[in-house]
Amino acid sequence: MEEYLILAVDDQDFNLIFLKKTLAEYQFLSARNGRQALELLRKYSPDLILLDIVMPEMDGYEVLRQLKYDERTRNIPVIFLTSLDSIEDEEKGFNLGAVDYITKPFKPTIIQARVKNTLRFIHQQKLLERMSHLDGLTEIPNRRFFEEKLAAEFGFAATNKRPLSLIMIDVDFFKKFNDQHGHSKGDEALVKVAQIIRSCLNEPHEFLARYGGEEFVVILPDTDAAAGSEIAEKIRYHVSISQLFNNPAGSHAALTVSVGGYSMIPANYEYCHSILEKADACLYQAKKHGRNCVKWDYS
Ligand code: GH3
Ligand code: MG
Ligand code: MG
Repeated sequence: MEEYLILAVDDQDFNLIFLKKTLAEYQFLSARNGRQALELLRKYSPDLILLDIVMPEMDGYEVLRQLKYDERTRNIPVIFLTSLDSIEDEEKGFNLGAVDYITKPFKPTIIQARVKNTLRFIHQQKLLERMSHLDGLTEIPNRRFFEEKLAAEFGFAATNKRPLSLIMIDVDFFKKFNDQHGHSKGDEALVKVAQIIRSCLNEPHEFLARYGGEEFVVILPDTDAAAGSEIAEKIRYHVSISQLFNNPAGSHAALTVSVGGYSMIPANYEYCHSILEKADACLYQAKKHGRNCVKWDYS
């Protein structure tokens, strides 16, 4: 069972004590006003927030507005717990983005059930998001995730006039490897190659994804050609010395990769796939040049 952290915000101490007791199976944090809650949220990221509405200074509606305004807190589900029981108040709460609205008198069993439902829903949502973003075999980000990340990093680099580098990595003669060792050994090899590439990177800043089949891509934000090609060479080298695989005849046959990379300071009008196409052209050159090498270009 996953551990959940709940943040309760209420100006009345006895409500906080009651909630802590009611929700004893969860990790529990409390805040006595909106300001304190927002402060806590800089340090903690709770799975759920229970929010009172009537509080001095900043009311619960205003706290929720501020939560929705901040990228980091926007997706934390909020349940209002309040004595305001008019339809209008409840509507207002839902319109602001609360996931549930519980009115007094508070019944422990009802609060427990509704909290549990919300947490279960959030858990499933996170699981789905994870699954839709990760590659099933290697458990690194998949192409869909890569596309989202590339668009974001390309845009960021263009806006801030920062360099961006992209690496494309393709396993050499992998068809032959499969033919010699079988498809399942091929799968194992891909998992290992992904692990080796990861070990050469500073994640999550440097972002690795499986682009398809036996091809991987790395996005290097804020990285110029000198630094980018160094990382590419490190990857190529570490795969080539991994010496994990021998062919059935016993002679040594280490797996190698060809690497193409490209660095640029993107312009706003450019299409984010331009860097991918340029890196791919370099990869093609690396293949043509005899494989197990790095070809890099920049503009
Ligand atoms: P090159 O050096 O020119 O890249 O040659 P290659 O044989 O690696 O390239 P090609 O594109 O001809 O073949 C890629 C092979 O990768 C064919 C395919 O069976 C294999 N492959 C792609 N995805 C997977 C996978 O998920 N598991 C396994 N075992 N093999 C895969
Ligand atoms: Mg290929
Ligand atoms: Mg290949």
